[in-house]
Amino acid sequence: MSNPYRLPRTVLPHRYDLALTPDLDAATFAGSVDIAVQVAEPTATVVLNAVDLDVDEAWVTVGGVQHDVTVALDETAERCTLTLSDALPVGAAVVSLRFRGLLNDKLRGFYRSTFTDDDGVERVIATTQFEATDARRAFPCWDEPDIKAQFGITLFIEGDLQAVSNAAVVADEVIDGRRRVRFKDTMSMSTYLVAFIVGPLDVTEPVDVDGTPVRVLCPPGRLHLTPFGLEVAEFSLRYLADYFDLPYPGDSMDLVAIPDFAFGAMENLGCVTFRETLLLADPDHATQGELQNIVDVIAHELAHMWFGDLVTMKWWNGIWLNEAFATFMELKVTDAFRPEWERWVGFGLARSTAFDTDALHATRPIEYPVVSPADAEGMFDVLTYEKGAAVVRMLEQYLGEDEFRAGIRKYMANHQYGNTETTDLWDAIEEATGEPVRRIMDSWIFQGGHPIIGVAAHDDGRTLHVTQDRFTYLSDDLDASRWSVPLIVRYGTADGATRTARALLEEESLDIALEAPATWVVVNADGHGFYRVRYSTDLRRGLVAQAQGELSDVERYGLVDDTWASVLAGTTEAAEFLALTAGFSGEDDVAVWRRILAGLDQLDRFVEGEAREALQARVRSLVGPALERSGWEVRESDGDRDHELRAVLIGALANLGADPGARARVRELFDRYVADPPSVEANVAAAVVRVTAALAGPDEVSTIIDRFRRGSTPQEEQRFLYALADVRDPEQMKRVLELAMTPEVRTQNAPFLIGSCIANRENGPLAWKLVHEHWDEMNERFPSNSIVRMLSGIRAVTDPVLAADIEAFVAEHPVPQAKQTLQQHLERMRVSVGLREREGARLTRG
Ligand SMILES: [Zn+2]
Repeated sequence: MSNPYRLPRTVLPHRYDLALTPDLDAATFAGSVDIAVQVAEPTATVVLNAVDLDVDEAWVTVGGVQHDVTVALDETAERCTLTLSDALPVGAAVVSLRFRGLLNDKLRGFYRSTFTDDDGVERVIATTQFEATDARRAFPCWDEPDIKAQFGITLFIEGDLQAVSNAAVVADEVIDGRRRVRFKDTMSMSTYLVAFIVGPLDVTEPVDVDGTPVRVLCPPGRLHLTPFGLEVAEFSLRYLADYFDLPYPGDSMDLVAIPDFAFGAMENLGCVTFRETLLLADPDHATQGELQNIVDVIAHELAHMWFGDLVTMKWWNGIWLNEAFATFMELKVTDAFRPEWERWVGFGLARSTAFDTDALHATRPIEYPVVSPADAEGMFDVLTYEKGAAVVRMLEQYLGEDEFRAGIRKYMANHQYGNTETTDLWDAIEEATGEPVRRIMDSWIFQGGHPIIGVAAHDDGRTLHVTQDRFTYLSDDLDASRWSVPLIVRYGTADGATRTARALLEEESLDIALEAPATWVVVNADGHGFYRVRYSTDLRRGLVAQAQGELSDVERYGLVDDTWASVLAGTTEAAEFLALTAGFSGEDDVAVWRRILAGLDQLDRFVEGEAREALQARVRSLVGPALERSGWEVRESDGDRDHELRAVLIGALANLGADPGARARVRELFDRYVADPPSVEANVAAAVVRVTAALAGPDEVSTIIDRFRRGSTPQEEQRFLYALADVRDPEQMKRVLELAMTPEVRTQNAPFLIGSCIANRENGPLAWKLVHEHWDEMNERFPSNSIVRMLSGIRAVTDPVLAADIEAFVAEHPVPQAKQTLQQHLERMRVSVGLREREGARLTRG
């Protein structure tokens, strides 16, 4: 079977000698590559990948003799075919090409990122982003993940610029007026991990981490924002080397902040690239969430140095495991780095976003067959990262952390420098634990959706009867899907003790024998299972009674989250959600609060008049006492999560609760923050900016835009920029939307801003009109992967008129690079509209 996206294996590379000369002002580059190859069978053609490159010269050398070739470029197939007059013999040869290309503005391949320096001069950085298949835009290569080779890279640059790549510099000398910077050979690795960056960058002194020099590079003037990222990188590298029981596979580690970046970050071996907000920060003036994002992302990328770079997927169907596992590891590292952040509790929020897509008929299996690399583009989504990480965590908790890690170590040791299929990982863990890991995981990986576990107790209270059904929001048909569900059951008994039971539910139902009659039961103990739970009325009553007693933070979170999901599915009335959450005014966990408030916010999107006032009053009576406990001012005893909780409560009371006193106080804090930023704690400042934006008139919007322009950290810029999405005044929203389409808002950020504006309660239609009118321009200017992210704003739309308009527009304007994701957004929008249809009238009746 021939796949047009797979290159012939007759000639394969093992080392690239690659030299590039970028011209930053002209936005062009010239390159040469000499590729040492092995010819496996006699052939007169050599086929490799190339696109958007001009090849000026090419030849093949065998035994010191140079052979001419003819070059044929096929832009559609993204291939370059070299044809010789005689067949190459089996054995070693060198394939040489001389080529030219453009430094593009599309944030992929070898591209231009720009920034304005302190003197107001525009400066250019030439940088790379190759995953999945854009290395071929920078140099001709065998651009498939299982064709690994070593890379010896040389960059010719202007005198005062920085040059970095995957390995350490071995020579830096001036030749003919240009600097020639040569890097050490890399380990054998995939082309999508190659990176080279040239530009006016500042660089920190290296920190030695067990023999690896670690540095951060950033645009000039931002070195003071690097120590936190360096500290995280140092911690992560040590943690990961220990976890995998293998030293870091590269020889140096540069973390590079790039002003224009289509993704969050990219795990190029030894040369990891980031959005500025995900690497640079002033920890004294950043929110816990902003800092946590940085730790997560650095840890994630560094986990890839082993899981991804050292052991790599055979083909792009394996992307999900690469990303899911790195996400799982990021959570472990962050949890170890700052235990007080309670990272696994916070992960509940991410798991909820995965549930929210996976409860749709338009969901997909985590892994699916991938023929073309483009098929895998849809894999970079919430199902890969968040659901993937959640099911890995579920497995780890079921097997035990030490047992699971033993399996991972075995896998890494067996496959280092190689390529694997997903099943290789399960087999290694199965071997290490003796559990049916492949069978369990196949049921989660190869079918979409997730179950809801029904739980009832038999009369004696000693036996639990559990069942499984697929959970969907719009359930119109029965579904026979079955999962192998690892259940961890925690229950209380009359003597006051707490016990645990484990079971694997593989059929439609199962009876679980308990050691003693239970007084209360949690079936998803510690909340790591990727399933919903529906308790019998009796059990549910017992659980709710325990909500502020025996239940852990994650378990309370799960109770609220599962209840809200059943409201969206229409099996529970919103009134019951309101009754449940009314019991949470004593709650002290910020993730639980966020989940409660997100549900209330969704109801607030469509209630009007008295019903809205009633909802606001409910928010005030729920949030008011909690904020009183937290206090408005920072306390000596506060931890990071206390700051975050205070900010969440202030935002809710002022915005959702429409509390006049809180609004006045927010206004004071906003003025204080603008006059003297360090005087307001960062989490509170971020909340205050959002509330102020929501209520803003022309002056406040001008202030916020001005602060966005002059932000002293990437986080501050972003905080002010994204707050503009909350503006309620339509005239002011017009200004925001206009701004979003100017070059002032980088194309890496504009789609997110516009997406949030579509979700704006008052101004969704205005934002949608912008999409309508500028669709072609947006597709031309914004990174390809960001278009569907922008459209994610439609998920929150409850207005049937706007929803119909959106359906009609999207039918005419498809997003071919993200068809499935778009279908998910549309179905989710229908869920929102359905919620309004059911609950709008009910809540108004009161
Ligand atoms: Zn990743």
